[in-house]
Amino acid sequence: MIDALPATGVPAEQVLTELRELRAADLPTHGGRLFAYVYDPAVDGLDGLAHAAYAISAHVNGLDPTAFPSLLAMENALVGAAARLLGGDGATVGSVTGGGTESLLLAVKAARDSRPEVTAPRLVVPSTAHAAFAKAAHYLRVALDVVPVGPDLRADPAATAAAIRPETVLVAASAPSYAHGVVDPVPEIAAVCVERDVRCHVDACFGGWVLPYLRRLGADLPAFDFAVPGVTSISVDLHKYAYAPKGVSVLLHRDEALRLPQYFAYAGWPGYTMVNPVISSTRSGGPIAAALAVLRHLGDAGYLALAEQTRSAVRALADAVEATDGVRLFAPPETTVVCLASDGVDLFVLADELAARGWHTQPQMAYADLPPTIHLTVTAAVGATVAEFAPALADAVAATRARGPVQLPPPLLAAAATLTPEQVDPELIAGLAATLGLADGALGPMAAVNTLLNAAPPALREALLAGFLSLLQRPGR
Ligand SMILES: *Cc1c(COP(=O)(O)O)cnc(C)c1O
Repeated sequence: MIDALPATGVPAEQVLTELRELRAADLPTHGGRLFAYVYDPAVDGLDGLAHAAYAISAHVNGLDPTAFPSLLAMENALVGAAARLLGGDGATVGSVTGGGTESLLLAVKAARDSRPEVTAPRLVVPSTAHAAFAKAAHYLRVALDVVPVGPDLRADPAATAAAIRPETVLVAASAPSYAHGVVDPVPEIAAVCVERDVRCHVDACFGGWVLPYLRRLGADLPAFDFAVPGVTSISVDLHKYAYAPKGVSVLLHRDEALRLPQYFAYAGWPGYTMVNPVISSTRSGGPIAAALAVLRHLGDAGYLALAEQTRSAVRALADAVEATDGVRLFAPPETTVVCLASDGVDLFVLADELAARGWHTQPQMAYADLPPTIHLTVTAAVGATVAEFAPALADAVAATRARGPVQLPPPLLAAAATLTPEQVDPELIAGLAATLGLADGALGPMAAVNTLLNAAPPALREALLAGFLSLLQRPGR
């Protein structure tokens, strides 16, 4: 147990040693073997640069850009670079946010508040849209209309058009989708939006900083940025393929009038006049300075080279999947994601077997008529390790076959089938966690957990996940 408030202070060196020891339990953020959560360009010295830049601005407060003009200048530089990369022009404006979820929340908020006469606003998204849209809809009380994607896993323009109602304030598309890494037909979706006079947001949180370079390298990808008429806003996470440390994303709007309803200003209290472009009020300049340092150090040519490395790593990983009996590519590896499905092996066991060999992938549950899959986010660092993946995958598949599929104890399977979300309480969660060996939250084999969650209907899955997180989040005493 860590004592965060010891009776007397601990020497600095010891504190840092303790932090390093804690970090040793984490998945490796560098080394090209973790295919989710982290984005690693494996560029020498880049971490040191980002950390030094972070330190310079860590205590600067983004609350008031007139008090800290350095932050205003840095934000304008980041937004300008994003606009240039994504087909913007002299009218394009934007905001720096703390992450993709915040960018999407604000895109939905701006759209909602641009139509104050609509009392029950609605948001139309493809079924492959990021879960953060559901969160935005939930937080902002906007109804969510989920349109099934076509058999090619892409948003369906005709079905999207059919889903738009007079109350629809925003339509979204992904470039690309996180789960499968495929790009929606943005020109067709945006054309529908023009016709119906609805805002159109392109969620390029994941791919916005790499797709322009992949296209320059000759990848056959549709236009997805402001070059497409009807696209009104675009989100791009700098803490993904711009390789900045966590805590920066950019939300762009085609023009200032579109951005205005995103802002919140309040003068009805005795304190300072508050005007916030984003959700946080006080915020650190650290992530913004770090992002600016990374962008300036890598430059356009640096990103092009990193995209090239990433592209060949994707090709090599996809080849390995295609060459391995027992798994198959689930989606075309057209961007920076490799998504594989089972061809006769238990995917959740396979994910554990890969992890046991040092390859950390991201299992995805069955959804609607889509089977479970394994997701690999590929970044430039994977280039260094990719040759070792094919033999590891073959070995892991063989071990998965030898182990056979997960056999959940029948009472657990019955629970997954019959429990209702309302029945999930802390006691039940504690019992489940003990049965599954999860009580201390340590990362171990996850196949049984994933199998249980996969068997549960989505609402029960959500209740179990929330209950489990709540079990972990107990203060140290
Ligand atoms: C990562 C991601 C998000 C959410 O971003 P966070 O930075 O995790 O909040 C939204 N959309 C897509 C497509 C993403 O990949």
